Amino acid sequence: MNEFKTFPQGGIHPREFKVYTKDIPIRNAHIPSIALIPMHQHMGKPAECIVQKGDTLREEMLIGRATGYFSANIHSPIPGTVTDIREMYLPAGLKSTVVVAELAGEFDRAGKSSQKKDWDNLSPKELIDKIADKGIVGLGGATFPAHIKYTLKEGIRLEYFIVNGVECEPYLTADHRLMLEKTEEIIEGIRIIKKILSPENIIIGIEENKPDAISVMERTILDRKLDIEVVRLKTKYPQGDEKQLLKSITGREVPSGGLPLDIGSVVSNVGTVFAIYEAIVYEKPLIERIVTVTGSIIKNPGNFKVRIGTKIGELIEECNGLYELMVKIIAGGPMMGFAVHDLDTPVTKGMSGIIALSRKEVPSWRETACLRCGRCIRVCPLSLNPTRLFKLIEHRQFEEAEKNGLFDCKECGCCGYACPAKLPLVQGMRLGKLMAKKKAK
Ligand code: SF4
Ligand code: SF4
Repeated sequence: MNEFKTFPQGGIHPREFKVYTKDIPIRNAHIPSIALIPMHQHMGKPAECIVQKGDTLREEMLIGRATGYFSANIHSPIPGTVTDIREMYLPAGLKSTVVVAELAGEFDRAGKSSQKKDWDNLSPKELIDKIADKGIVGLGGATFPAHIKYTLKEGIRLEYFIVNGVECEPYLTADHRLMLEKTEEIIEGIRIIKKILSPENIIIGIEENKPDAISVMERTILDRKLDIEVVRLKTKYPQGDEKQLLKSITGREVPSGGLPLDIGSVVSNVGTVFAIYEAIVYEKPLIERIVTVTGSIIKNPGNFKVRIGTKIGELIEECNGLYELMVKIIAGGPMMGFAVHDLDTPVTKGMSGIIALSRKEVPSWRETACLRCGRCIRVCPLSLNPTRLFKLIEHRQFEEAEKNGLFDCKECGCCGYACPAKLPLVQGMRLGKLMAKKKAK
């Protein structure tokens, strides 16, 4: 049995709150009668909308075509009719064209059995093309188009393919449940990616707070005599960040501004691996994902298989509503997620959780002056000096902030979490980056 590994610098261990949903099996959410499908659900350029108001949609039909190299296709999650095409703000403040679809007609896949496709004879290029065609992006939150991540330059030797089963954000258990319930499928997904990347080592990283997932993965790998290692990790936030995960597992550091590929590695989340399995084995586009709907005031929290485009408010209703008035809804995890102001906001490819918090859980903090305690420096996993960066941004010294590593900041929130003065450090970093980019333009 190996030791629990972790990254050496900084990090925190916030209260987990995973107990609400970690033992509840994944349920199918209702198919939405109206789906709101954004064209911008991935890193890179938005997809080009190729349908018009009044068009008839089939389930899984291509409705948004990737524009250029760095983009991803979008497919219709439901059969029906396009009733509107409009602009809408999404949780990260991103404005996107949204196709409004009203459910009608027959499903091509739902409720029908699908034939497994043999993929052994497909070349790596054919597999990548299928992944691009089906609109697969990173489901851990980064939404990096998977076909781009897996297209290696000729002659590149890949040392590590790492599967990210960390799920270090409090509350979220979607990846945990997926590892327990879709173990075989994830393993087959890994074999597909192995064929594409030919890595020297394949490692699945899972934190010690998911012992059942560690043991089911280890057992399956052993039974099938596969050359895949499960690495047990100490529970520490933000270990799910791919750069921290690489440091924990390989001891190597991705250079500032660089990518995992610079140190011979590719990292994919377990949800992405499962989506790739479905795309290749069942030719299924990314039209649904697992979402944790949780919080102490949700009556029946759980993990749901949700069609992309389902309204957040409908998912909360599916949990039988709330015990008391909520004051905050977060899309994603509480550390890196975004507050949602409109219950009609749709679930997108990168949305792993919906968390409803009560007044008690969102205390109104009074901000004070910096106490020079240095806690923010101690917890920053990237060895930055958040208090100094914050001051530079306040004084609009963006170039100096950049020299001090502003763009290395992952916006993980550790500094803000640890700060006794309750300074909005992460919000400051986000604003600083925006302003620095604007100034550079
Ligand atoms: S938000 Fe940025 S500055 Fe703060 S701890 Fe995380 S990486 Fe460091
Ligand atoms: S943690 Fe907060 S109070 Fe302490 S040095 Fe950092 S910014 Fe100042």
